[in-house]
Order: sequence, then structure tokens, then C-alpha cells
Amino acid sequence: MTHVTKALFIVDSYLKEAPATVVSVKDGKFVTLDQTIFYAKGGGQPNDTGKIMRGDEAFNVVYVGKFSGEISHEVDHAGLQPGDQVCCVLNWERRYKLMRSHTAAHVLAALLNQGTGALITGNQLEEDHVRFDFSFEKFDRVILESSLAKANQLFGTDVTVKWYELPREEAMKIPGVVKMAEAAPPDLPVLRIVEIVGVDRQADGGTHVKNLKEVGKVELVKTENKGKNNRRIYFKLT
Ligand SMILES: [Zn+2]
Repeated sequence: MTHVTKALFIVDSYLKEAPATVVSVKDGKFVTLDQTIFYAKGGGQPNDTGKIMRGDEAFNVVYVGKFSGEISHEVDHAGLQPGDQVCCVLNWERRYKLMRSHTAAHVLAALLNQGTGALITGNQLEEDHVRFDFSFEKFDRVILESSLAKANQLFGTDVTVKWYELPREEAMKIPGVVKMAEAAPPDLPVLRIVEIVGVDRQADGGTHVKNLKEVGKVELVKTENKGKNNRRIYFKLT
């Protein structure tokens, strides 16, 4: 198969519905489309869920993954055929929460990194919380608390978040562009950058909100020790 799905969410993370044509169906349940609004699990962000509608008939999207570069939608029952004209409908409530917490994660990572020099060694968004693993020489509760307070201050202000592509060479000159382990940049000539103006620039393929005002507030859930220099932090949107 030479077709590659056009990932609409890369440019517009606010699309809740979009038409598509079914390109292929494997084992009745694994569907590729000419274009999609469904985010495929990866880079620390879970997959989207929702529906693929063919007329009135709904095929529930239970998983979305990337296989050999192609975005595959797993639906709950067979029936879709190549050539079908369909409409993709996101579970927007879930996606929007993930956008808010993904942007929040970048802000918090940037502030903690500034405060401690700590690097994120692992990072996983879930629908109801975010988990970070940090390598700390010396864990500092005060810095953690003050970073959270600072982040919450930022989330109440009008700060633009934007995303764009940069040639790899140029992107790699940005200090801290690979703060997050998730962002170990793929070997591509062009990298997608997510910029939180004045706060952070990361190589990143995820979906984000356009303004920090949309994040709301976050709170610490708990911290755990994970080995000598590793600290796990859980936080969530309030
Ligand atoms: Zn990210």
C-alpha cells in the first residue's frame, strides 16, 4: 500500500468531525482512511476514540495505532468497505482533556527543567492524569510546589500556543528542544515544533490547545520514588 493517511490533527487539533474515504480494511476491523482526525497512540499521548459514521451506521473506534507509518483505526464491528464515504466523529470531551493536559505537561516540564535541570525520562498522559518520570540529582519538594504554582499562574493568562515545522538543523539549535524523552526527534528532515510563547519550544507530534487560558488549573496527585535518582510525579487537571 503506498497511500499515507493525511493526519488532519497535525494542523488543526480542533477538528471534531471530518469526512473521509475508506482506503483499506483488514480482518474486518482495522481501517485506514485517506485522511483522519483520530490521533494514533504515540509520543506519550493516548489514542483518540469516537465513531466512523457511514450514513446512520456507527462504527465505534476503540483504538488507533500507527503501523508501518499508516494510521489504523480499530472499529468494534466489521462492515466497512474500501471506497466507503464516511464521517469521522471524535469523542471530543476525551480529546480536549488530553489537549489541555498535554499542553500543561509541556509547561510544567519547562518550569521544572528551569528550576532543577531535571530531565524527563518518561511521560504518559492518561485521560484523567499525567505521569512524569524525572531524573533528579536531588529532589526538591519546594521547587516542585513552586513550579506548580507558577504553572497555574500561567494557565490563567493569555499565552499563545502554536505549532509549525522547522528544518531539522534549525530546530535542533533551540535550547531544550528535546526536554521530554517522548520528543527524541525522529530522523526526519523537518520537525514539528510546539511553541508555548515565552515558555517553551518542543519537538512534538501531539495535540495541544491554542492558548494557556484553556488549560484551567492543575494539581499534584502524588509523587513516588522510582530508584535512586528517579522521581515519579502524577498531576491532573482540576
Ligand atoms: Zn508533548
